[in-house]
Amino acid sequence: MEINIGKAPVFNRVDNSVILSGLIERFKLEEEQYKKTTRVRDFGNDLIMLYSPHINDLGFTQYFSTRLGGVSQGIYSSLNLSFDRGDNPACVLENYQRVGKAIGLSCNRMIYTHQTHTNKFRCVTGLDAGAGITRPKFEDDVDGLISDEKNLGLITTFADCVPVIVVDKERKVVASLHSGWKGTVTDIPGHAIKTMLDTYSCKTSDLVAYIGPSICETCYEVSQDLIEQFESAYPIDEWELLYRKGRQIGNETKYQLNLWSASFLNLVHAGLDPKNIYINDICTCMNQDLLFSHRASMGKRGNLCNFIYIN
Ligand SMILES: [Zn+2]
Repeated sequence: MEINIGKAPVFNRVDNSVILSGLIERFKLEEEQYKKTTRVRDFGNDLIMLYSPHINDLGFTQYFSTRLGGVSQGIYSSLNLSFDRGDNPACVLENYQRVGKAIGLSCNRMIYTHQTHTNKFRCVTGLDAGAGITRPKFEDDVDGLISDEKNLGLITTFADCVPVIVVDKERKVVASLHSGWKGTVTDIPGHAIKTMLDTYSCKTSDLVAYIGPSICETCYEVSQDLIEQFESAYPIDEWELLYRKGRQIGNETKYQLNLWSASFLNLVHAGLDPKNIYINDICTCMNQDLLFSHRASMGKRGNLCNFIYIN
């Protein structure tokens, strides 16, 4: 693949050593696990995507799209990858074709699903190839995909929610998960990893995970009832890693929720070695010219996608 590196735009990065200080201390995280874990790649023709070298070095091809390099207009400008938000489907398909050409994956080998913030996922094979892109999508709610089949593109879509990617580096199995606050508090990573162990014979010691571009703690203000749901789902000694108290508005206390820490804890609870978990430092909400953010755009936006396949 011919890759043109050097003129890529600069993304605002979160100082993770500040917002993840509790995690860093408790799990003895090393700098490479939370600094510059996400790299920028320029494919030419304005197509820019993000990737994790920690996943791509293990025999997988993983890219997270940006807004750059597509043909969509207006609020979808320009690389919108959602067929479900009112954009012209012909533009969306052209955007998929551009990404596919860049990353060596035909559209009829991609799988796109109907995501609804559940903790449900689906195990897929070549029989499912093209679903949601070149043929009708599955009718059920699917917020994650798991496969052990080579050259089958698992697609999950985002605009602030957290991409959680888990790979088995030995058995070559991949799980690609859409984990917003609902998927996080209902532990889609834990459920998917149990299936990787039970169905695909993975071992937790071989699993490597990447928590991708999404909304950071500083930008993610939430209400108390949402925090109470997280308090019910996590042990009390982990609450200090999950959120900080924020603004006071009259009688109401706001909180800053850290979905990156929460996702990290889900992965640790599922048995991953903390040293095999890499946390992204690019916030969608702080880069709204380059990435779609639901919160920054107040819902007027397209979707980003994570693409991953086994080489
Ligand atoms: Zn942010």
